[in-house]
Amino acid sequence: MTSPALVWFRQDLRLADNPALAALDGRPALLVYVLDDEAAGAWAHGGAQRWWLHHSLASLTADLAARGASLHLARGPATRIIPQLATAIGASEVIAGRLYEPWARSRDAAIAEALQAEGRKLSLHTSSLLHEPHRIRTGTGKPYSVYTPFSRALFALGEPPPPLPTPARIETLAHPGLPLEALELLPKRDWAREFPQHWQPGEAGAAARIKAFSLLNRYDATRNLPGIPGTSGLSPHLRFGEISPRQLWHAARAAGVTGDATFLKEILWREFAYHLLWHRPELPEAPLQQSFANFPWQPDAKLLRAWQRGQTGYPIVDAGMRQLWRSGWMHNRVRMITASFLVKHLLQPWQAGEAWFWDTLLDGDLASNAASWQWVAGCGADAAPYFRVFAPVLQGEKFDADGAYVRRWVPEIAGLPDKFLHKPWEAPEIILRGANIRLGVDYPRPVMDHGQGRARALAAYAEMRGAAP
Ligand SMILES: Cc1cc2nc3c(=O)[nH]c(=O)nc-3n(C[C@H](O)[C@H](O)[C@H](O)COP(=O)(O)OP(=O)(O)OC[C@H]3O[C@@H](n4cnc5c(N)ncnc54)[C@H](O)[C@@H]3O)c2cc1C
Repeated sequence: MTSPALVWFRQDLRLADNPALAALDGRPALLVYVLDDEAAGAWAHGGAQRWWLHHSLASLTADLAARGASLHLARGPATRIIPQLATAIGASEVIAGRLYEPWARSRDAAIAEALQAEGRKLSLHTSSLLHEPHRIRTGTGKPYSVYTPFSRALFALGEPPPPLPTPARIETLAHPGLPLEALELLPKRDWAREFPQHWQPGEAGAAARIKAFSLLNRYDATRNLPGIPGTSGLSPHLRFGEISPRQLWHAARAAGVTGDATFLKEILWREFAYHLLWHRPELPEAPLQQSFANFPWQPDAKLLRAWQRGQTGYPIVDAGMRQLWRSGWMHNRVRMITASFLVKHLLQPWQAGEAWFWDTLLDGDLASNAASWQWVAGCGADAAPYFRVFAPVLQGEKFDADGAYVRRWVPEIAGLPDKFLHKPWEAPEIILRGANIRLGVDYPRPVMDHGQGRARALAAYAEMRGAAP
């Protein structure tokens, strides 16, 4: 009789293109998800991610039940739970998709060792990336630290293999586990109440989202416009592995995306972030450029809070921060604007912004979040030069010219004419009155003057470099 296996779902909550399921090859298996907050420490799922995870696990359970299969849920240290379950069912092999977070890597190493001591093995498959970060090297055998040659190297590897089909049959072993509610993933205070208007977690939701992304072939023209659905909105689905990057790549090709199109390059930015995390595990906590270790940040709880709450007085910044709070997601262009505003105009450490995004983003992803914050702060690999300070008014006027985005998320200033929408403080009193706005009462005055903020940021940079401003 073939011995059973244990399939450990982690960041691949899907049935299609799931190499761990494919590796079963007809063997019976116990399918397991373990909520292991302790191992992840500071990088345990943030609040928004927990909401998504709850619904994603519900969806996966339902998809499995429709095939007569079941998912075993557990909570606690996986280093204890996985070996125990493997012993209980007599599994010869534990199969999972590989994880890349530093905490997950050391946990996997410990589990592999524990299993090996009992004559079992841990098999890890490439499931949430196109390529293993440790396999990609420059001509001189080093990891990449610059995106463009990295992406060129990935394109040169050719098309990723086609996605695997959903297994026709999954024979699961029953083993009593916890009910989903016992994972306590949903927020106690109902701040996530608007999420269901925007999202459908689960594999079917991911498939529906791709199908609905009608602007894919106009991505270059639409991807920077936050007022329209010009990007795919697939990031939370990718984050939880309800769709694999391979499936997304091939879906884009099938929809007519050719060559090294920008959309594919964005998928490779995600790969690049994981490449950095793998080779520089300090990425989420410490600047990759040593010179930034002593940057003269000016931590200020009041300014940080104004930014978090979308009360900075800069409409494009406030719109982004409110979109994040209410929908659990923010448009990429606005992520760059809001992040730049925090680290440059307000001189708050990038780690404070990274932590807020981690808690509030449904797509909170250790690699992409950390790499992007370091990119904006100018201290990462291949980062934007520090002295490039996003001007929030110009950014708003350029990318939200008709004001659709700001009017949606900052409704109290919706009545302003386009001319003043991105700079209400310049509107004459009569215009403000006509739009029912008392500046400083209904909507804040800017917490920081743009020119002053920019000059202060550049002075701080000069101080760091040991030069006179
Ligand atoms: C400060 C900051 C923090 C960020 N934090 C995260 C995060 O925690 N999780 C996350 O997934 N992305 C993060 N991003 C990257 C990017 O903003 C999102 O991936 C993108 O907005 C997701 O929307 P979409 O799915 O519609 O993207 P699309 O434009 O449709 O792109 C398709 C996919 O490509 C990937 N992608 C696109 N742009 C990037 C990028 N710049 N870096 C890495 N991958 C990218 C995503 O997986 C995305 O789903 C961050 C960016 C910034 C500036």
